[in-house]
Amino acid sequence: MQNMEIDNILYRLFPICRSITGDGVRKTLAILSEITNFEILEIPTKTKCYDWTIPKEWNVNDAYVKDQNGNKIIDFQKNNLHLKSYSIPIHKKMSFKELELHLETLPDLPDAIPYRTSYYKESWGFCISHNQFTNLEKNSTYEVVIDTTLKEGNLTYGQKIVKGESKYEFLISTYCCHPSLANDNLSGMVLWILLLQWIKKKKRKHSYRFVIVPETIGAIAYLSKNESEMKKISGGFILTCVAGPNNIEYKKSFQGNHFLDNLVLKKLEELNLHFKIHDFDINGSDERQYSSPFFRIPIGTICKSKYYEYDYYHTSKDNLEFIKSKNLIEMFQIYISIIEEMERFENFQDKEILNPKNNSSGKKFLSLMPYCEPMLSKRNLYPTNGGTIKQRMFDVKKEHHDRKYQDTNENKITGKYLDTIRWVLFYSDGMFSIEDIAEKTGIPYDELLLAANELCTNNLLKIIDEG
Ligand code: ZN
Repeated sequence: MQNMEIDNILYRLFPICRSITGDGVRKTLAILSEITNFEILEIPTKTKCYDWTIPKEWNVNDAYVKDQNGNKIIDFQKNNLHLKSYSIPIHKKMSFKELELHLETLPDLPDAIPYRTSYYKESWGFCISHNQFTNLEKNSTYEVVIDTTLKEGNLTYGQKIVKGESKYEFLISTYCCHPSLANDNLSGMVLWILLLQWIKKKKRKHSYRFVIVPETIGAIAYLSKNESEMKKISGGFILTCVAGPNNIEYKKSFQGNHFLDNLVLKKLEELNLHFKIHDFDINGSDERQYSSPFFRIPIGTICKSKYYEYDYYHTSKDNLEFIKSKNLIEMFQIYISIIEEMERFENFQDKEILNPKNNSSGKKFLSLMPYCEPMLSKRNLYPTNGGTIKQRMFDVKKEHHDRKYQDTNENKITGKYLDTIRWVLFYSDGMFSIEDIAEKTGIPYDELLLAANELCTNNLLKIIDEG
């Protein structure tokens, strides 16, 4: 595929309003399947997937805010990021004071519209640039119209299993839930379809499972529907953020020295590229699910302008001007050369069980939900606006992580506690003591123990060794 064809597909897909469910995802998968065909499947609302339930399907007809003179001052039709994803329908006149509670801006990037979602907490909101917010008439009334539907429907996803002869199967996964954002993750979807098209035509030794799902809920649903097959996967990649202007970055698998990690690093060095290495981190994309204690699939990610690492991440400035199809083609070539290298091997070292270095004594916990990340928000363990965790757990400001990433309305301390919870769940496979986890993550012992005890109270962990 040439630059122009890639540009063409990027231009067709960029404007579509995608979310974790709805017609935007259907339309996107239909367009991608014109390039090469794959299965498009649906899971109905209310289906239980481990600890999660498929939510209602969300679709948007229109959304705007009008000023007193009837001018549309915020308009979903102009940019779909203006509407917080999963906003419930509303039609109401209100004061600025009331409207303000539902507006989100980015004071640090005042001309950008933020990307925000509220999938599991019924609410509504608009996202606007901080400059626009500053200029809003404060003594005026506004008419708010959100014409959305939240109904029983489906979650839509795609897959294609391309069979080889060896016993090894690898996963190539991406997500399809972001609206008009280009590097994260329109670029990943386009790379995914190009690689699928390429691999189908190629004489292959190994099998490759191509999966395209809405992030988190889609990966969890996929794992729950394909549990035994997914348990056997040897390793894989998440395709995301592959066309930005910055250097190449590689996020290692949780093993860190898995053969895929070694292979990627060797290739990147051979190609003489400037690149940066990130250790595995419990934040990120669907490796959080695929690498959970039950599945432990080693997953790597090669990015060009990695999520969290560029200023325009999750804003309207991550648009088609930010990315280049030539960068996407460069990443396509890199992934091809890595798969070619994988194809040379007859035997891979088996998936190693994750082992602590010294198998120390000490308190050990076992996750009672090892299949994926448990749904933390329904247990009040996930930060929501003005979340309670911070007040309950952390008035101490301890720096144990250097993280650029911030969730909506989530302050640093709350975000760190969420990290602590996730690390404890990730390592609580019965092998790691709290001391081991402290050594692995650099998080202080007391904070880990606090999180572990709270997870026990929520029936997500049980203690198996008092140490
Ligand atoms: Zn994202």
